[in-house]
Amino acid sequence: MTAWEAVIGIECHVELRTASKMFCGCQNEFGGEPNTKVCPVCLGMPGALPVPNMRAIDHMIRAGIALGSEIPAFSKFDRKNYFYPDMPKDYQISQYDMPLTQGGVVRYWLEDGTMKECRLTRIHLEEDTGKSTHAGSTDGRIAGSAYSLVDFNRAGVPLMECVSEPDIRSAEEAVAYLEALKRTFVQLGVSDVKMEEGSLRCDANVSIRPIGASEYGTKTEIKNMNSFRSVYRAIESEIERQIAIVESGGRVTQETRGWDEARGVTHPMRSKEQAHDYRYFPDPDLVPMEFNAATMEILRSTLPELPTARFERYTKQFGINVKQATQLVDNAQLADYFDQCVAACGNAHQCVNFVLGDLSRLSNESGTPVYYSNARPEYVAEVIDMLEKKIINSKIAKELIERIWEAAGSPRAIVEREGLSQTSDPGAVEGFVNDVLAANEKVVAEYKAGKTNVMGFLVGQVMKTSRGKADPALAGELLRKKLDAS
Ligand SMILES: [Zn+2]
Repeated sequence: MTAWEAVIGIECHVELRTASKMFCGCQNEFGGEPNTKVCPVCLGMPGALPVPNMRAIDHMIRAGIALGSEIPAFSKFDRKNYFYPDMPKDYQISQYDMPLTQGGVVRYWLEDGTMKECRLTRIHLEEDTGKSTHAGSTDGRIAGSAYSLVDFNRAGVPLMECVSEPDIRSAEEAVAYLEALKRTFVQLGVSDVKMEEGSLRCDANVSIRPIGASEYGTKTEIKNMNSFRSVYRAIESEIERQIAIVESGGRVTQETRGWDEARGVTHPMRSKEQAHDYRYFPDPDLVPMEFNAATMEILRSTLPELPTARFERYTKQFGINVKQATQLVDNAQLADYFDQCVAACGNAHQCVNFVLGDLSRLSNESGTPVYYSNARPEYVAEVIDMLEKKIINSKIAKELIERIWEAAGSPRAIVEREGLSQTSDPGAVEGFVNDVLAANEKVVAEYKAGKTNVMGFLVGQVMKTSRGKADPALAGELLRKKLDAS
């Protein structure tokens, strides 16, 4: 029995976040009444001339630099010729042999924290197409009852296409790779990457080969995957299909296949086009682009810390677990807040517990992001510092977090003003313990009869009697000593 491995490459289209479209002044915004965000340029009227959107080009170059791509000094736009009803010019402005970026590497991690790499072939810039809606009856019995509508609001929106090398080996890796791209683009501010609005769409090239083989098998290209879950299911299903064909003596056909979400299978769409089918040629309406080193340096200097670097800092330097590090990295503002808390108190572990625990809960309950709340990072640091120095116990710490969320100000001042510091004085705690034992004769008898799990209740009573100020560890120790002695 042959053991198979999958070889997967991903092509991923990402709409860029800009105020206007790629080659005209129309608004680049999702939705709206059909055909209201259009003009002669994006409708392909004769004589209308395109003007490139500099912001989109900046976004592309920043994305390329962030992913380690080479930015060639010269690049140009080409026409990709094909007919499609939602593409008014009958060609798409894209880039063929001189794209804005070449090469690069996407570093990503799996759920168990394993780091992986996938090389990029290129990232090029193009314009998006419009959208067709097919409506009416399609059973053919009533002539003219089936029709299609077209909306050109999306036509001409700047779109970057990231083409990967076939370095991915499983559906899990494909999703992790896409997540890394998504968080990188969000962090760079180049795209909002809203999959539900179609601003990230991807196709996967899938083939199989016996493990250990170096040549590639025949690949198929899967289209129509509109969520990371679809990507996972479609790739799994396609790998299974190809293995079944090859193991029963058949051959995989090179073709484009669509993903049927409802049935959970891929189906043939058309045979794969070759580049020459598109008759690419340089767009005569657009001059080539030229970049100098100084511009590159300016763009490079505006890059923030990237998600993968942040993930590695959290897991390696701070020892935070993969799940918590991922949660932080996926919310850049929360991660910035966390970094400020750590800078103020130096205790990453306590910070991650409060930030992802109580503070995130309060944020969910109130709808206010932690970053914009009253709980300033230096206040959280004060709570952690007092907890570390055993000035307060964890119960008071939790209360203080809620109070600084409600805008009570410095927790250190609250503790001083209200005398909340923990009572670690054995004499005082012993007094509380004695009171509790005297008031709970029945429970004491249960403990002596072997029901030692009532200890939690007794400690709770000591905390209550001391109004939360007793050191719970000391209270437990004294209770046990007294109960076991008598
Ligand atoms: Zn327009």
